[in-house]
Amino acid sequence: MPIQVLLPKVASQIAAGEVVERPASVVKELVENSLDAEASHIAIYVEGGGRRLIEVGDDGSGIPAEELHLASVRHATSKLFSADELFQIRTLGFRGEALASIGSVSRLCITSRASGESTGARLVVEGGHADPVQRVGAAQGTLVRVQDLFFNVPARLKFLKKEATERRVIDELVTRYALAYPRVRFHLHQEGNLTLQSSGNGDRREVLAALYGVDIARQMLEVLANYEAVNITGFISPTSMSRSNRREITIFVNGRWIQDPALTSALIQAYHTLLMVGRFPLAVLFIDITPELVDVNVHPAKAEVRFRDRDRVFSAVQRAVRRALMAYTPVPPLGGWTAGGDAFQNSWVAKSGWPDESLGGDSIIGSQVATSAQAGWNGAPPLSATQKDITSSRVPLLRSIGQVASAYLVAEGPDGLYLIDQHAAHERILFERFREQRKQAVARQSLLEPAAIDLPPASARLLEEQLPLLTALGFQVEPFGMNTFLVRAIPALIAGSDPAVALRSLVEDFEEDETPFQTEMEARVIARICKRAAIKAGQTLSGEEQRALLVDLENCQSPRTCPHGRPTMIHLSVDLLERQFGRKGAR
Ligand code: ADP
Ligand code: MG
Repeated sequence: MPIQVLLPKVASQIAAGEVVERPASVVKELVENSLDAEASHIAIYVEGGGRRLIEVGDDGSGIPAEELHLASVRHATSKLFSADELFQIRTLGFRGEALASIGSVSRLCITSRASGESTGARLVVEGGHADPVQRVGAAQGTLVRVQDLFFNVPARLKFLKKEATERRVIDELVTRYALAYPRVRFHLHQEGNLTLQSSGNGDRREVLAALYGVDIARQMLEVLANYEAVNITGFISPTSMSRSNRREITIFVNGRWIQDPALTSALIQAYHTLLMVGRFPLAVLFIDITPELVDVNVHPAKAEVRFRDRDRVFSAVQRAVRRALMAYTPVPPLGGWTAGGDAFQNSWVAKSGWPDESLGGDSIIGSQVATSAQAGWNGAPPLSATQKDITSSRVPLLRSIGQVASAYLVAEGPDGLYLIDQHAAHERILFERFREQRKQAVARQSLLEPAAIDLPPASARLLEEQLPLLTALGFQVEPFGMNTFLVRAIPALIAGSDPAVALRSLVEDFEEDETPFQTEMEARVIARICKRAAIKAGQTLSGEEQRALLVDLENCQSPRTCPHGRPTMIHLSVDLLERQFGRKGAR
């Protein structure tokens, strides 16, 4: 193909991709504009995870009607006139690209009335095409409405995550801005529900409570330090509180949320040996530094900055964090935040919303168990030990009868009949065994030949983050180029399975829900491994195998549910059988 100059429409769509990557980027740009306009109240409405609608309204300075037609023109800005000013920038915007980019990939409508003007004006842009500005009545301030984001860029749409994920990212974004600008009142509505609001009273700890909950907000340590041109404020977690990833670390530089891995590492290093390997602090840090010492123009989405004297900033961060940490005597962990032991079980149950295993899971099964306790074993008075077993979540001793449909085991217990789902039961058995093993070292099986697996970049990053976890669970995986990994060993439990398939399915779990609870993640990964390793439905078991499975199940702590919370067994009590056959208490 010959060299050609791109059509303006194509060029602007390409450029838009740098600024508008996902719905949250639109929210970010619009909120930044409102902040630049010195709004005291910003209201955000999101529908369809931001794909259908993003609306940001403010009571800021507004856009004069005769300038409105320029708002969506690329490189049109009221915030910068010459390149020298780049180093004195005090506004968040300056590139004049956001509205142009958003307008080229959505249906954009800006309604605004500038202070001092008697009427407002409206500009409508659809897929980069702007209609003439119209005069309309409007309150002072600006209302920007973005509908059908990426409607004309189907390729982009394909890259969007699930609506729930986009919603969460928007939630996090707005919360962070609310924290950074405590004097501004924020409202966020998602799908018609108010999901976040700040009072604008200037109290950061109050906003912190909205982000992490009251308990955590109360425990967070305040950072307050000033070193020459660098001012550092914010909150960091005490050493007793940590996360499995860096996602809870937020850094603002001069009011701008930036994602700078090096700066983040500097902060983490300040915790030094105070955190366990693979654990990260929570932090919201605001670094204020003379604008001349920061280059903000290194990234189209302004997510990165460059410091003139990096080391100075890094060491200021470390000193500030260290000082805050040392000012408080570390409190030993109470068990809620560390891995292993009870915390494991607790967060596993409480956080996942699965039935409390200690109650025996399914309530129908539970009530049958309760009534059956009185009936006894073949009419004989129940042994106290047996009774205890029945009423607790343990299963009683079972006598194997046989297998049905190569999927269910039939067994007789002290009170009636048990139907057992062989796959679910085996999953439970393996899960508890694995968890037991996990306390020491998980048996692994080295592969004769390491398997290489390629992942999409986002998945690769997720996997990278979870490498310590995978290692702890018996995998030996190492990065091998940007998005490729070498699997050298897998847990012995799934010896013989395809390592690439196994690993991919785990990555899916990481993607599903970026939960901050490592214990939960760990439980999920173990459950996944066990699912893979467990006997499948359709597998015929010998009498010996059936008996072994029952014995193993009897020895489980929580035999009545599989690790995913589904029942492993159905119990038909003698009482129930008698009723069903009309022998007793016809109802
Ligand atoms: P930038 O923020 O980099 O200047 P934008 O494309 O985001 O570029 O906005 C273009 C211009 O539109 C801004 O410079 C500002 O003058 C005006 N503008 C946008 N949003 C608002 C708003 N909410 N209130 C007042 N003026 C706004
Ligand atoms: Mg802007």
